[in-house]
Amino acid sequence: MDLYEYQGRQLFMEKGIPVPEGIYALTAEEAGEAADKIGYPCVIKGQAKIGHRGQAGAVKIANNHDEAVALAERILPMEVRGHKVHGVLVCEAANILHEYYVSISVDRTSRDYDVLATAAGGTEVEEIARKHPEYVKRLHIDPYKDFTLADAKVMAEQIGFYHADNDQAAEILLKMWQTFKDNDATLVEINPLAKIGDPNDESSKMLCALDSKVSLDGNAAFRHDGWKRFDDTTGEDPLELRAKAHGLHYVRLNGQVGVIGNGAGLVMSSLDAVADAAEQQGTDIKPANFLDIGGGASAEVMAECLSIVLADPNVRDVFVNVYGGITSCQLVAEGILEALKAIERTAPIIVRFDGNAAAEGLETLENAHNDSIVVARTMEEAAAEAARIAAELENAQFSDATKEGENL
Ligand code: GDP
Ligand code: MN
Repeated sequence: MDLYEYQGRQLFMEKGIPVPEGIYALTAEEAGEAADKIGYPCVIKGQAKIGHRGQAGAVKIANNHDEAVALAERILPMEVRGHKVHGVLVCEAANILHEYYVSISVDRTSRDYDVLATAAGGTEVEEIARKHPEYVKRLHIDPYKDFTLADAKVMAEQIGFYHADNDQAAEILLKMWQTFKDNDATLVEINPLAKIGDPNDESSKMLCALDSKVSLDGNAAFRHDGWKRFDDTTGEDPLELRAKAHGLHYVRLNGQVGVIGNGAGLVMSSLDAVADAAEQQGTDIKPANFLDIGGGASAEVMAECLSIVLADPNVRDVFVNVYGGITSCQLVAEGILEALKAIERTAPIIVRFDGNAAAEGLETLENAHNDSIVVARTMEEAAAEAARIAAELENAQFSDATKEGENL
């Protein structure tokens, strides 16, 4: 589970990592009030669960009230690489003297924790890491040993916080580790960890976390009261939320063929198969969603899946691709038939089964003589049918619309 910047920095504050003063605002008016409280200049930062907000124009400095309101008005409706901005964080603007990058993450290969750090932090950090991998230090924290302040000091020394106070850098490393460990995080990243202050006043200089990127391990939610305090679902796709509430993995895309399958790998290849078939047919048809029904495919689960997929008005037909393992395709077939009785909107359903009781399942569907169901023998055949039917329905709708237009 990824956190917004304003949430991640809450965790930083709890551990005593220095952050600039900041107020979270949901409207431009609130942002203006927040900016007046913080003082000028201040930074207006669009909250989206994605990096490179700065480069996308979602992080801007305001010098007075009117600028703060105008910037918030501009940033609030923005999308950063497909991620909707949800609120703005109004922060005290810091005078940046130097930008470092520091992160702690799970390293699955070496089965420990990776500390990545570079003195060349900031918005270009990926580019720098590509061109000069030697600038990036990779150090490790042993999961079986305690990581102490003394260890953090050695680590800070190795990283090389040139121009900054090594002891303060070590304190921050230790607190980042505590943030990581106590919150069951999979990532704690600060970019920039900035040296800020008045260039002419040595005593004003300090390290400060000007950004936060924190991901929490969803499997540990039960240890943290479900992380209810981070439940900020406004702005999330309503169909995705509905699927989540039913324990289903649904991701909305923007095509016309609904896709339902069991197992993430099978669903991913079903999406590819649809896109590939459409390309061969010379149409613009694309998959409309990813939906993994997981292990069970009871009638209730199938009904919920079909009704979620069909609630997307762009969907013309649905490709159901199930490999029967523990789940029998016969049960899935019964589930589909039951589901079709229960849902309001119907659309052609193209079904491909393989594995456990596939033949029986397909036979059950065929014997039902339901006009909505199209049975296919292979995945390629099913994907091609789904793409072709969707294109046909899309064209029919388009010509209906032009006919209506002519009548006016
Ligand atoms: P990101 O682009 O999504 O990583 O968003 P950041 O929060 O890192 O902000 C982008 C960039 O804006 C940072 O790398 C800084 O260079 C700049 N920035 C952020 N806060 C301040 C600030 O208080 N003062 C100044 N001068 N620049 C800031
Ligand atoms: Mn950043």
